Amino acid sequence: MDTTKHILHVDGDGFFAACEISLNPKLKGKPIVTGQERGIATAMSREAKALGISRGMPVFMIKKLYPSVIIVNSNYATYGMFAQRMYDIVRRYTPFVEEYSIDECFADLSDIADPVLVAENIKAELKRELGITFSCGLGPTKVIAKVASKWNKPDGFTVIKSSDIHNFLKDLPVGKVWGIGPATSKHLVGLGMNTALDFIQRDERWVRENLPKPELFLWHELSGNAVYRVNHLPDDDYGSIQKTRTFKPPTTNFEFIFSELSRNVEAACHKARVHGLASKRIYYFLKTQEFRYHRFEVPLTVPTNDPTVVLNEIRRSISRVYVPGLEYRATGVTLSELRSESVVQNDLFGEVVENQKKREIWKLADIIDRRYGSQTLILGSSLRAREKRGYKPKRQLFIPCMGEVV
Ligand SMILES: [Mg+2]
Repeated sequence: MDTTKHILHVDGDGFFAACEISLNPKLKGKPIVTGQERGIATAMSREAKALGISRGMPVFMIKKLYPSVIIVNSNYATYGMFAQRMYDIVRRYTPFVEEYSIDECFADLSDIADPVLVAENIKAELKRELGITFSCGLGPTKVIAKVASKWNKPDGFTVIKSSDIHNFLKDLPVGKVWGIGPATSKHLVGLGMNTALDFIQRDERWVRENLPKPELFLWHELSGNAVYRVNHLPDDDYGSIQKTRTFKPPTTNFEFIFSELSRNVEAACHKARVHGLASKRIYYFLKTQEFRYHRFEVPLTVPTNDPTVVLNEIRRSISRVYVPGLEYRATGVTLSELRSESVVQNDLFGEVVENQKKREIWKLADIIDRRYGSQTLILGSSLRAREKRGYKPKRQLFIPCMGEVV
């Protein structure tokens, strides 16, 4: 049986600018930049890109250097509508669609007889119905699908077969791989791995023993073994619990952003415990001021509803998601692949036994919350987010083993 997965990644080309042009065809063929209201370029048309304008460039500089460029205000409500239509078109072919960000989605086409043909149809329909071009990539894993969609931009479609992976990775700098941030990239290059191919040519045992877990997942994904799934469940599905919150004003402050995430993790885990559920797979995201989502997925060896376990995993990987200096406006966490807690408790892994004591602590915390009102016991790491929202407890109780104050 062929168990190879076929994952499609769809990515809008200069999406915000493309939406503007689709609504106002007079702009077609002209250099367009969005982001006037923020004072920096948030997206640009092909023509603006060709002039040398890139995301984040200050508007005053663009005006000075390229007076012919048309700069418009971003209209996120409109872009969100286009995004919804994009997801809907892809869903005509499969229900397994992950709304990854405002201009990107993944689709799992593994059950489809001819995934290449379907991917071509999706791409053509998106272009015809939205008046926007998309770059698409098809591969055996999410990370390879991302490599494929980036391969030929704009308006490209690249298929990477498992047997062909080496050809695509041999010249790809390791830092260009989705999920490998600047710090990890530096680390890998320091160890002699300059390209993604150098990385996957290390044997699994070496990676397992010398690199953190997220890199091991990437190693598998790049080698063609799917670790990350297409997370198609709607957020309100019983199969997952999601907590997300927006804050104002947007901020670049890491401690505050982490605290917001901590607050969401606490709330999500509380809900899971109330329903007697534990999660086997966690997703979290930081949303930037430009409505771009930076997401990360953490598969767990043992299902959990303990926020300190989840936060430790997030701590380990957040440098891959958080970009210093970028303004963020929201965070969120999804506990997915939920299962009954009682099943987990009967598991005989060492890790489960080790977590038993902590589970007792959380049981007590939930009892205290019920008796004295919610937020009686909170994690130190959530304090900043709570304080911002007027959290003034009569008495504060710090439990050092339950989270950290950052
Ligand atoms: Mg894009």
